Amino acid sequence: MARNAEQISETLPDLEAYWMPFTGNRYFKKHPRVISRAEGLYCYTHDGKKLLDAVAGLWCCNAGHCHPRIVEAIQRQAAELDYAMSFQVGHPKVFELANRLTELAPEGIDYAFFVNSGSEAVDTALKMALAYHRLRGEASRTRLIGRARAYHGVGFGGMSVGGIAANRKMFGSMLPAVDHLPHTHDLSRNAWSRGLPQWGAHLADELENLVALHDASTIAAVIVEPIAGSTGVLLPPVGYLERLREICDRHGILLIFDEVICAFGRCGDSFAANRFGVIPDLITTAKGLTSGAVPMGAVLVKRDIYQTFMTGPENAIEFFHGYTYSGHPLAAAAGLAALDVYLGEGLFERARALEKTWEDALHGLRGEPHVIDIRNYGLIGAVELEPIAGQPTARALKVFRDCFDAGVIVRTTGDTIAFSPPLTIDESGIEQIVDTVCSALRA
Ligand code: PLP
Repeated sequence: MARNAEQISETLPDLEAYWMPFTGNRYFKKHPRVISRAEGLYCYTHDGKKLLDAVAGLWCCNAGHCHPRIVEAIQRQAAELDYAMSFQVGHPKVFELANRLTELAPEGIDYAFFVNSGSEAVDTALKMALAYHRLRGEASRTRLIGRARAYHGVGFGGMSVGGIAANRKMFGSMLPAVDHLPHTHDLSRNAWSRGLPQWGAHLADELENLVALHDASTIAAVIVEPIAGSTGVLLPPVGYLERLREICDRHGILLIFDEVICAFGRCGDSFAANRFGVIPDLITTAKGLTSGAVPMGAVLVKRDIYQTFMTGPENAIEFFHGYTYSGHPLAAAAGLAALDVYLGEGLFERARALEKTWEDALHGLRGEPHVIDIRNYGLIGAVELEPIAGQPTARALKVFRDCFDAGVIVRTTGDTIAFSPPLTIDESGIEQIVDTVCSALRA
């Protein structure tokens, strides 16, 4: 394709042929931001600009970029075993990773199914929920309940239970039997919360209304992100997740926590379920599982769910589902090394110890121009801005571009600036993030 010489730096390849995901392609190709190297807290652009990564890639590089231990594990694995058939054949590291992960998971969650992304983890978990009920003789339980403003990836399952109009409206009919709970964010009632908001646990009771509407015998599962990240950091009010758990138990409905973002230290523990003390039936995860170094996701399930599938002739396939690259050797090696780093360097504890510093620094932006809410938990944060009239998202995008130019990568979603720095961040890094955002807001 023709190369536009005026717009593309000498050091970049032709940008035209690549159709970029979730990106304004035409704007990007006129104003490219290309990262060609990364190390620890920092990314470097193709033309040598150094950037502090306040989003850990895309909520995934929790151990920082290119951690030497993870790099070495991937290199060693690539030379030893590039690939082993994933159906009817295994390789040692994927079993080891399943053991290590389920040791970290909440009590009773004893099995791991591997996939390659968060979207695949969600679709896999939804299929498990439907099949589980059918195997138990409750085949009428086919309805799935998601939540407004939820993001569960881009597969047809995740899109259906997700709650983002832009992600749904172009793609025709979704899964047929889906309903949604309300989200938990209300600027007039739970803004400026430090940690979990006090107001809003009663929003879980909407599940009782859905049960009354559809009847429990038609509902298979409820899926929620313990903290919704991608739609602007929406926190669960104190007591909300507990109440969802109670209602699900009362009606035989499976509860799925989508921890694609929340796991691996992001909420100050291995899993948000552990931090919140609420145990779901299934956990979907990805991202920090390999610290973003190799694509991998997982569904972690309770023993009872796994056992329900283990019926019929011993040599028969129990779950007609899986991917060529489920538990890929490079991903498994990266996952094991990431766990070694998280545990060996105490990164989950570090995230917890930094939580108050992070909270105070972020809330220091209260009173700056256009800021209408600030929220935080673990090493997650959000600064919500008043939208420019008639131009939603424009203000936050301007802040994103100004911060990038000033040497800090932040993420925007709507008019909210979201943060999820590597767990290796320190006080001076936090100060740099907040100062840079402050200058961008004042500008
Ligand atoms: N679920 C949640 C909660 C997510 O935040 C994401 C991605 O941000 C996904 C699922 C989809 O993950 P992936 O982009 O790896 O498919």
